[in-house]
Amino acid sequence: MILGIECTAHTFGVAVVNKGKVLSNMRDMYKTEKGGIIPMESAKHHREIAEKIYKEALDKAGINEAKIKAIAISNAPGLAPCLHAGMNFAKNLAKRLNVNIVGVNHCVAHLEIGRSVGAKDPVLLYASGANTQIIAYASGKYRVFGETLDIGIGNFIDKFARHIGIGFPGGPQIEKLALEGKYIELPYSIKGMDVSFSGMQTKLQQLYDKGINKKDLSFSLQETAFAMLIEAAERALAHTGKKELVLGGGVACNSRLQEMAKIMCSERGAKFFCPAREFLVDNAGMIAFTGELMFNAGVRDDIDKIDINPRERTDDVDVVWR
Ligand code: AMP
Ligand code: MG
Repeated sequence: MILGIECTAHTFGVAVVNKGKVLSNMRDMYKTEKGGIIPMESAKHHREIAEKIYKEALDKAGINEAKIKAIAISNAPGLAPCLHAGMNFAKNLAKRLNVNIVGVNHCVAHLEIGRSVGAKDPVLLYASGANTQIIAYASGKYRVFGETLDIGIGNFIDKFARHIGIGFPGGPQIEKLALEGKYIELPYSIKGMDVSFSGMQTKLQQLYDKGINKKDLSFSLQETAFAMLIEAAERALAHTGKKELVLGGGVACNSRLQEMAKIMCSERGAKFFCPAREFLVDNAGMIAFTGELMFNAGVRDDIDKIDINPRERTDDVDVVWR
């Protein structure tokens, strides 16, 4: 049994995986009524909730601690205080249980969990709060083929939501508002496989301040921003010659983004994979799943040397397990 811990931002999660099967995947998310994530507050949340979520994960999996063979911890990338909170918990547990520890890159885990739903060698469209990347495997690494040049798609959506008086996370409410909106043209910014949202952000705020209604703005935001992501993902499929697309990240919970991805894939004869919601959002299941792949390939970290790596990039990781 591999225990996985997720802690990189707002979510603290613990999961148990055995031979690629996720036996439990528990999580709790730091939320705010108004405004965005305060890293120190989110870290405090993680420290307070850790023991409870850990117990729930063991209970749900129906195992006791003695069955745990290694602990996989999301040590990169993310918010430093949150990573610290998770790392401390993981280290103490690994010492107490006398088991190995494996550091897992959060972005890589989003791609790997796509393999649990059947993808073999996909392009990942990773659309989350802080991250927006198009990732695929090429000669020993997961390469970033495209990414946001400014802010992550989720943060972009949340920032707009905040501007119109919606708390964090804003995505689900923007999705609801969008259902009844009409299209207004917004800045569409894509360069090669890179995207940028700041121009659209400014325009949206200006239009809202001028009195344009929330529904039309939400609809237009989704249509424009998602079309950019899908265009970049399609270009990555074309360039790499790969034939599978996987979605990951909280924004991938959006039905319209999923629909656009599905249409693009069917038009070019690619397979489309969308993991279940619990594996799209930040979750420990994907950390445990990836940790198990790594552990089985012989990856182990030294418990006295392993550290957090808030800025580690997806292509910094040597993918020795495939
Ligand atoms: P993550 O960082 O992967 O946990 O994802 C969190 C982000 O996903 C936040 O920015 C949310 O606003 C966003 N999000 C969650 N659900 C949706 C949705 N249905 N549509 C758009 N964005 C969403
Ligand atoms: Mg994530």
